[in-house]
Amino acid sequence: MTNLTGKTALVTGSTSGIGLGIALSLAKAGANVVLNGFGDAAKVIAEVQQFGGKVGHHPADVSKPEDIAEMIAYAEREFGGVDILVNNAGIQHVAAVEDFPLERWDSIIAINLSSVFHSTRLCLPRMRAKNWGRIINVASVHGQVGSVGKAAYVAAKHGVIGLTKVVGLETATTQVTCNAICPGWVLTPLVQKQIDDRAATGIDPQQAQHDLLAEKQPSLEFVTPPQLGELVLFLCSEAGSQVRGAAWNIDGGWLAQ
Ligand code: NAD
Repeated sequence: MTNLTGKTALVTGSTSGIGLGIALSLAKAGANVVLNGFGDAAKVIAEVQQFGGKVGHHPADVSKPEDIAEMIAYAEREFGGVDILVNNAGIQHVAAVEDFPLERWDSIIAINLSSVFHSTRLCLPRMRAKNWGRIINVASVHGQVGSVGKAAYVAAKHGVIGLTKVVGLETATTQVTCNAICPGWVLTPLVQKQIDDRAATGIDPQQAQHDLLAEKQPSLEFVTPPQLGELVLFLCSEAGSQVRGAAWNIDGGWLAQ
């Protein structure tokens, strides 16, 4: 089992869904964890603290580079710096290209893509100085293929995978690695909203969920946050240390089609 005692992990967007699942796995493996995201921080801190490590939360809005800088400074001041950076915060908006609201395009690019650049550039110097680090970017199958209605999301996630490759190459001779993980459907609030939107057209909610899976995910089962947490632990392990610049799909067969 991967032992991360003494390491500090920063997981963006970890008050919900996938980020929370990854934060719990990292804490279970012994890491101290800096949480980030909106919502009830106290409740999430208590949940992650059950494993006995040090846990904090920073309320940075990762669409703002200055907030990201403050969050990294907080992690350095209170935790001695970030050893494991999980860039997970993300949002979705579904609309055809010609109807896509400009402000939604800008915020999806800022949150899903530019934030990964900012947190990476701010954490890398310290990782290089310690000659150990893990940068794990939560991309998506939509970093490798498109779907209608998701122009900004697909563009941002393809960008994340490109950035991951460059950082993977720039750190290739060090003990710092950078990889992306590419989930298929995971039942989180982000996806529940898409199921609710289908159900709002009059379809039975169970049928809407089945249709969503059947269109893309051959297993007809959701990927779970704990499964993604385990993949992150592998990438943090010694066994994972030569996985570099990869885009690792975990998608119930979505990309095999
Ligand atoms: P979610 O809505 O459950 O959680 C998103 C998290 O990001 C929350 O903690 C939220 O507070 C935080 N967040 C949103 N905007 C933020 C901002 N501006 N600053 C800081 N935090 C912010 O969503 P999720 O499904 O868990 O998605 C997490 C990541 O996984 C996203 O990058 C998403 O693109 C990716 N992903 C999700 C799925 C899926 O099926 N759910 C599939 C592939 C990839």
